[in-house]
Amino acid sequence: MAQPLIHHRTPQFSAVLDSVRQNLKPLFGTGQEIILLASSGTGAMEAVVANLLDPADEAIYVNGGKFGERWGKLIAAHGAVPHEVKVEWGRSVYPTDIEHALAINPATRAVFVQASETSTGALHPIDEIGKITHRRGVLLVVDGITSVGVFEQKMDEWGVDAFVTGSQKALMVPPGLAMVTLSEQAWGRVGKCRGRRYYFDLERELKAQRDEHTTAYTPAVGLVLGLNKALELISAETLPRVFARQQMMAEATRASARALGLQLFADNPAPGLTAMITPQGIDSGKVVRCMRDELGVWVQGGQDHMKGQLIRIGHMGYLSPFDMLTAVSALEIALAKAGHVFESGTGVAAVQTRISRGM
Ligand SMILES: *Cc1c(COP(=O)(O)O)cnc(C)c1O
Repeated sequence: MAQPLIHHRTPQFSAVLDSVRQNLKPLFGTGQEIILLASSGTGAMEAVVANLLDPADEAIYVNGGKFGERWGKLIAAHGAVPHEVKVEWGRSVYPTDIEHALAINPATRAVFVQASETSTGALHPIDEIGKITHRRGVLLVVDGITSVGVFEQKMDEWGVDAFVTGSQKALMVPPGLAMVTLSEQAWGRVGKCRGRRYYFDLERELKAQRDEHTTAYTPAVGLVLGLNKALELISAETLPRVFARQQMMAEATRASARALGLQLFADNPAPGLTAMITPQGIDSGKVVRCMRDELGVWVQGGQDHMKGQLIRIGHMGYLSPFDMLTAVSALEIALAKAGHVFESGTGVAAVQTRISRGM
């Protein structure tokens, strides 16, 4: 990425584009075409809404956190009708709740959900939801922004019709590049959908990327080059080992939370990040700022009504299990400063114990 850029209308760039689009397929678990978009992840979310929903179309969305809420806003912004399935923050959606929502809204065209709701650290059961939507002939749209590249995704097998992700989470690339892939059924819908789009016209992008080996508009060349390298790293490590490494980091981090007397926020926690609840009377914002500004370890707090109450530690992408020793050590120092009482080193020891058990 630090090298001089190559021009995008060249055979050199086309070769990189083809390779990136091909090598992304196993991360989604699909044989379908992958389309790259120059935008953050939300751009790919909007692209899917604009290409699958007509104004006044009805859509169900799972709102179990900030990103689920975003689906609802995007659906409404495009003039379609959002039906919310509200899920308490930290919980996973019950497939029966989707079944119920479909029964009372029989005209629903698509169901929108996150595979991993990053604001709460909760996983949603995409495979089970896929069985329900498939049976009813309703499209299933999944935000995979903290699941693609983190754990095994089986888009084709699960019956996912539209799957999106972004460059800056598990894919180890700076922000600004988004990816989307559609099933046969979803492509059929795109052809008939009159939803408003210009830049995010997926048929036009498919034609450019699949048939002409270029993009419809100027791509984020530097990021595509970076992603090509990241995919080479993943391929060298092998995907199963990438997943096992991230799973180990998740288990080590969860074990450290238990050792320090912090409760996990999610019932069914995602492998990409761990959200922990801070003890009564301790402001998580203070802990997060101390970790960041005094110790140089960057983690996140809670949002909205969970502001001040959550610490979210990401463990996806360019990280090794030993980085969790650093993260948890900083967490301990910051928690102790904030007044939490525990035996120093117990969180770090829990990480070390998990690492020594091996993958
Ligand atoms: C980060 C994230 C997004 C937002 O993507 P942007 O790149 O900020 O637009 C959407 N969904 C999930 C689940 C995320 O984690």
